[in-house]
Amino acid sequence: MGSNEGVNTICPYCGVGCGLTLIAGEEPGDVRLQPWFEAPVNEGSLCIKGGASPQVVDHEERLKEPLIREGDSFREATWEEALERIVTEFERIEQEYEPDAVGFFGSSKVMNEENYLLQKLARRYGTNNVDNCTRMCHASTVYTLRQSLGAGAMTNSMADLEEHGDVYWVQGANPAEQHVIAHSNYFRQATLEGATLIQIDPHANKTTRDADIHLQLKPGTDIPLLNIAIKTILEEELYDQAFIDERTRGFDHLEATLADFDMEAAADICGLPLEDIQEAARIYAEADNAAIFTGMGMSQHHCGVDNVQNEVNLALITGNLGRPGTGVNPLRGQNNVQGTCDVGAMPNVLPGYQNVDDAEARASVEDVWGFEVPPEPGLTNVEISNAIGEQIHGLFVMGENPVMSEPDALEVEARMADLEFLAVQDIFMTETAEFADVILPATSWAERGGTVTNTDRRVQLMRPVTDVPGNTRHDLDILCELGTRLFGDGFDFDGPEAVFEELREVCPIYHGMTYDRIGFEGVQWPCYEEGDQGDQYLYAEQFDTDDGLGVIRGVRHQEPAEVEDDEFPLVLTTARLEEHYNTGTMSTRSPTLSRKTPENFVDVHPADAAARGIEDGEYVVLRSRRGEIVLEANVTEDIKEGVVWTTPHFADARANTLTNDVLDPLAKIPEYKAAAAEVEPVSESPASADD
Ligand code: SF4
Repeated sequence: MGSNEGVNTICPYCGVGCGLTLIAGEEPGDVRLQPWFEAPVNEGSLCIKGGASPQVVDHEERLKEPLIREGDSFREATWEEALERIVTEFERIEQEYEPDAVGFFGSSKVMNEENYLLQKLARRYGTNNVDNCTRMCHASTVYTLRQSLGAGAMTNSMADLEEHGDVYWVQGANPAEQHVIAHSNYFRQATLEGATLIQIDPHANKTTRDADIHLQLKPGTDIPLLNIAIKTILEEELYDQAFIDERTRGFDHLEATLADFDMEAAADICGLPLEDIQEAARIYAEADNAAIFTGMGMSQHHCGVDNVQNEVNLALITGNLGRPGTGVNPLRGQNNVQGTCDVGAMPNVLPGYQNVDDAEARASVEDVWGFEVPPEPGLTNVEISNAIGEQIHGLFVMGENPVMSEPDALEVEARMADLEFLAVQDIFMTETAEFADVILPATSWAERGGTVTNTDRRVQLMRPVTDVPGNTRHDLDILCELGTRLFGDGFDFDGPEAVFEELREVCPIYHGMTYDRIGFEGVQWPCYEEGDQGDQYLYAEQFDTDDGLGVIRGVRHQEPAEVEDDEFPLVLTTARLEEHYNTGTMSTRSPTLSRKTPENFVDVHPADAAARGIEDGEYVVLRSRRGEIVLEANVTEDIKEGVVWTTPHFADARANTLTNDVLDPLAKIPEYKAAAAEVEPVSESPASADD
């Protein structure tokens, strides 16, 4: 495929969806990058991850042959042998148990078309046990926004927020490091032109440098903080009565919930001066247009649904929804995490968020697919992992790495070893693939085409620029081949566009899109008919709920499921780094991205470090009730006293061996953001500590 002509495509890392141009050399994997100045989202700008993205394409550790387990190691196999092994095992498990004995993990690192095919394959097999990494990041946000407003996605768009936003309320997010181009090109630009940035986060970070107010709360206290803001707005009559009357329901419930709410006591719980929270509330409520940005600091709690509901409450009582520069806007983490949900790779919804337990919705999809969809919602990915050895006996993992990404990871690892059959489709040998029976070598982002959907609902085209290396195959071709071998029909597609054409038929919010229309600009959903332009912002006239009203619901503080005690007196919280990406499968293999931070570390407040005799830069043991890791201490006032902060990217010091697997009861998202912990010096070197 070598060519000197550039091919415009999309960065494989975060959900901002920046465009870039790739130029292929003569050899497969030989790829150079140029700015794509006309790219609709970023106009040529790229962050360090986007700039380094070609480095993984021809990495020497790429998987290039199918592998089959033989004892404690793997041997190379033909595609025929590998695929037939999967078919044989899935047929055996179905006969021995039932279709619900198998789980399927989709991936936000691959295209809409591939995730669409995976969830179709799961449902044809006879199970709704299909999920994706949204469960680990924004499941609670998607749940709440669907219930209270109508759609599980950003209400507004980066462009209208920059142009019209006067105040940005950024809670549990760090866009300056995790959505770099959204921050630099939109939010920071707006603050330079006079907009006010209010940041709410236990950790000071690069976003803090641009913030006018930083509320450094204790992890797990977002509800009381928002209740102080809401009660202040109610007491000082800063709410929008007309908007509440005409466009919402549930205001009475909110008032009743806060009737006896003690703001002084709540401020103590947050670890903040009451006046600081009240000042931020007044700035938000008095703005012409105020927008909320919400991140995983909000969603990854056992009360994640209620956390996000309180942000919705704040926006609804002040009328900050349904027009440019406002809204409740989740910043999505991965390149295609929005699209993976849109196309139905979730256990409770079909493509386009149609409930799987809605007979009418099922019938409309079954008409196109030609088979019956199971009527009961399936298990989420954490539930699938927890059910291994009981309900679950087989697992198909496409592009995900649950041994790194799921909480209480040592337990997850033990359960993976208990599977009767595990198939993994990926581009590198991952910590999860180490447990596989069959490994299928798949294609990297530069080798395949299809669509991805970014954080503001923009569906964009990715285009292949280089040939697949070795004996790898396209993810889409693998799924088509597997589906055809398992079921005989329904999976015979001539490339991603043919899959997209079927997806449009069953996914109302994508129905008006075609590859031609998506073109270079992309199209934002909802796009119901071919003439629709797509919506920059949602809910101008009404919300997409049954009665068209936005739902207000008062919520009360809930402590983290695990609180500090004498043995574990600190709160552990985690977040991502600017230069790394999720479980590190790609970013830790990039020389550029690994240079600044080659290994994990933990931020410790100077007072906590002094109390334990910890020096900056020394190795420490970080412990929770589930495990311990050895890593370098970074003694810094960036973290709140009583809190320790680390990152999930590094296999050598796996943060998720420490995190708590308690789930939000509705969204089933784990509580990554608060666990009881302790940190102490080690006298041994990390190498000897590991031995
Ligand atoms: Fe890629 Fe996100 Fe960086 Fe843009 S901001 S270049 S999409 S990682």
